[in-house]
Amino acid sequence: MAEGTFATVVNCMDGRTQLPVIEYLKKKYGVDYVDSITEPGPIKILAERTYLTIIDQIKKRVGISVEKHGSRHIAVVGHHDCAGNPVDKATQPAQMEKAKKLIEAHWKKQAAERKEPVRKT
Ligand SMILES: [Zn+2]
Repeated sequence: MAEGTFATVVNCMDGRTQLPVIEYLKKKYGVDYVDSITEPGPIKILAERTYLTIIDQIKKRVGISVEKHGSRHIAVVGHHDCAGNPVDKATQPAQMEKAKKLIEAHWKKQAAERKEPVRKT
């Protein structure tokens, strides 16, 4: 296991979102590091489930963060003016909910396989 504490973020590749999200998650969860998995418009990818290969890669990377770095906090990010997800503000909450459910289900499955209690935060 790596030294230090980790959280995980499935973030947009947009450079504007990197540092603010990392700083926010470090403070919110009191962790030393944030593992970043980036795609253009990840909530669109996770919600629409069109690109299954990309979703598998996201799950694999989340799994590495959870298994190898002991991350117990996973965030999914959507943002204003996203080039990878150019939808109106009203569309994003539903995408976010679907994206969150997909990641949560995968995380709970991993925790069950480790026979670990799942904490909801
Ligand atoms: Zn974006």
